[in-house]
Amino acid sequence: MARTRKQKKRDERIRRALSIIRLWLIVIALALIVIVGVAELFSSGRAGSVRERIFGKRDITERAERVDAALDDALARLHITNVDAERTELDTLGYLLPHWEKTGRIPAGTSLYECNLVLTEAARSSGGKLVVVRETDADWRGLKSLDLRFGLGKIETHHIVLKQTERSDAPIVTRREDAAPRVAIVIDDFGYNRSKTTLGFLELDDPITVAVLPQCPHTRRIANDAHAAGKQVIAHIPMQPESYPDANPGDGALLERHTADELRSLTRAVLDEIPHVEGANNHMGSRLTTRHPHMRAVMGTLKERGLFFVDSVTTASSVAYAEAQRAGIPAGRNTLFLDSYLDESGRLDVPGRLRALEEAARRKGFAIGIGHPKPETLDALERGLPAMRARGIEIVFVSELVE
Ligand SMILES: [Zn+2]
Repeated sequence: MARTRKQKKRDERIRRALSIIRLWLIVIALALIVIVGVAELFSSGRAGSVRERIFGKRDITERAERVDAALDDALARLHITNVDAERTELDTLGYLLPHWEKTGRIPAGTSLYECNLVLTEAARSSGGKLVVVRETDADWRGLKSLDLRFGLGKIETHHIVLKQTERSDAPIVTRREDAAPRVAIVIDDFGYNRSKTTLGFLELDDPITVAVLPQCPHTRRIANDAHAAGKQVIAHIPMQPESYPDANPGDGALLERHTADELRSLTRAVLDEIPHVEGANNHMGSRLTTRHPHMRAVMGTLKERGLFFVDSVTTASSVAYAEAQRAGIPAGRNTLFLDSYLDESGRLDVPGRLRALEEAARRKGFAIGIGHPKPETLDALERGLPAMRARGIEIVFVSELVE
């Protein structure tokens, strides 16, 4: 009996000891979770995560240098030379990790959008990623900057600022030496009127593509005029701009609040209204063209009609071109606007923009310029296009430059 009681007591003690140990284990595990969580929290935003600390500094430095090499390569391909670059070491969770500040000038004729696309792809393919992209407002000359930040996970490694320039410092290199550089001119916003200026574009000898707005007083008639004059007709699809409703894209516009079904039927309505339509581009749209689902609905509708799309690139963050390619329809991008910005003396320098367009075409093999029915634009094209042809540039419909 006595032995059994003793045994019972011992069992009791062991049980108690085990439960205390179990309790401590739980407490320790909870403490570890809290410590790791707090460390992750502190590291987010400015520094590397705990995971990355475990990988170690050397690994992160090597990965950052790989991204740096890819970004430099991309800048060279964009002909952004004379880049001002500074490498520093940032104190990141007790480690000194490399960080680059770079500023460069974008040659005339290369769009902010293209810079964003090429650099982001370079970062992605080398293991980095785009963290933030911002486009500054235009200065008085209509020039903007692109502000990009790249990183590894949560660690920022690169801050790149690219400024637009009026003149190119880049050497002129023709990519396709066997063929003539090709230029396409698109004139937007047809349909409001049949003024002398508007009809003047239809009398140009060169192949010009006109983009016609829906639900305007002269939509059908001007599209028929253009076709009869041997010009190419595309639909100028009105889309929601960033500043909507202050800026109004007009009747029948595609808005962010529309469902995919609504976007498809609005797109069909635009296409049905415009005779001889061969493709489309966007009117405004600095908001809508940044939305993947919306662009997917539009491109799907163009595809079912067998039409191509030209991204007017009214914002550097447009995904319209990417979604057109994804839908498998022929797609192109605006290289530059011919008449959207005033020069230093407050005039439209359309001849200057035509020179920039020609330069871009010599560099890349082709370029697309978008203008509007303005007297300055008509005047510049009347003189500029024959001169461009004489210098060996081939003027083509925009449908020749979509792929
Ligand atoms: Zn427009």
